[in-house]
Amino acid sequence: MKRLPLTRDTVGTVARGHPWAYREGVVGTAAIGEPVLLVDHVGKPVAWGLVDDGPIRVRVLGREPRDLAEHVRGTLALAGRRRVALVGGDTDCWRLCNGEGDGLGGVVIDRYGDVAVLRLYSRAWERHLGVLVDALKGSFKSVYRRYGVARVDDRDGGEALWGPEPADGVVVHEHGMKLLARVRTGQKTGLFLDQREHRRLVRGWATDRTVLNLFSYNGGFSVAAALGGARRVTSVDVAPAALDDAKENFRLNGIDPGAHAFVVADAFRWSGGPADLVICDPPSLAHDKETEGAGRKAYRDLHRHLAGLAPDLLATSSCTARLSWERWEEAVREGLRAGWSWLHRSAEPPDHPVGIAHPEGRYLKFALLGRSSWSTLRA
Ligand code: SAH
Repeated sequence: MKRLPLTRDTVGTVARGHPWAYREGVVGTAAIGEPVLLVDHVGKPVAWGLVDDGPIRVRVLGREPRDLAEHVRGTLALAGRRRVALVGGDTDCWRLCNGEGDGLGGVVIDRYGDVAVLRLYSRAWERHLGVLVDALKGSFKSVYRRYGVARVDDRDGGEALWGPEPADGVVVHEHGMKLLARVRTGQKTGLFLDQREHRRLVRGWATDRTVLNLFSYNGGFSVAAALGGARRVTSVDVAPAALDDAKENFRLNGIDPGAHAFVVADAFRWSGGPADLVICDPPSLAHDKETEGAGRKAYRDLHRHLAGLAPDLLATSSCTARLSWERWEEAVREGLRAGWSWLHRSAEPPDHPVGIAHPEGRYLKFALLGRSSWSTLRA
């Protein structure tokens, strides 16, 4: 294995388990995807990983160098065993590999029944697709690669890497609820699997309430609310195809979409009236340091708007990695002003692990808030 020295101030970070060695911290380079040994200034091994070509020069995989195929097999086997234990029997879709958090930086693999959907966030893995497929094919009918990551494979669609091309609409189960995952054309890999536990929570709180689901995508939260006994659910998204799928998801679960509303609109400006329970799950509102301040302000303004829409309960979320819990919480507080209580707060679910040495991997923030008696409750 080629040896690449780390600069003095990078040794400590990598030795403590950070999965990224930045360009400035690595002396020299090798071909993209080549396994390399990272050493300190006296040549002592610190870790090993794969060479990348972006600002991250090496995707660190571990302390002791191993055969890559063995590392991938072992890592995915452990990840698989954990998922089965964590998600429960009435769920057949989950994130099997959450990149860095599972020890394979840059690799996301989502399970939709017997279809594995792979998405690469690093070009280092391009030449190792065979290794990934070999580790997966015993457990799946198809291994499908989904494109759409800007610095890796900036294009639409995908391709079957193994097995038959999957149907675009794969019906999966989440805590017993049926959902249509468009693995070939949907957003990301088909579903936003990270909100599973929050959809379940909403199901329990929706009984007899009118519900407004802003940024609904294909209506996962909406179906959960309807199954939980909501009186009427309004789903709002800017993407018409997502709302067509939301209607289909109602039907799949035996609920008449005709009794509910589906509106193509800009959710930031929703003015269709309030609801007892408002769910709000916008796309990321800040992608880099420059837009962090604007993102925080956008969350504050959004919550100011939501306060006027939610008479009773608000389920709100942020997938912006750039904003910490504290900064997001601040924006929520400033937006809502007084008169609300945190009823529940949570982050990534167990199938989205994040390494303790990798705070950059944290992104999901979710809160259920209830109007408190400090302000007057509507009847
Ligand atoms: N809550 C969903 C995931 C939401 S992802 C779930 O549980 O599956 C964010 C969604 O916001 C996407 O579907 C996207 O189409 C939508 N979106 C982005 N900008 C929007 C806007 N201005 N108004 C309404 N929807 C928007």
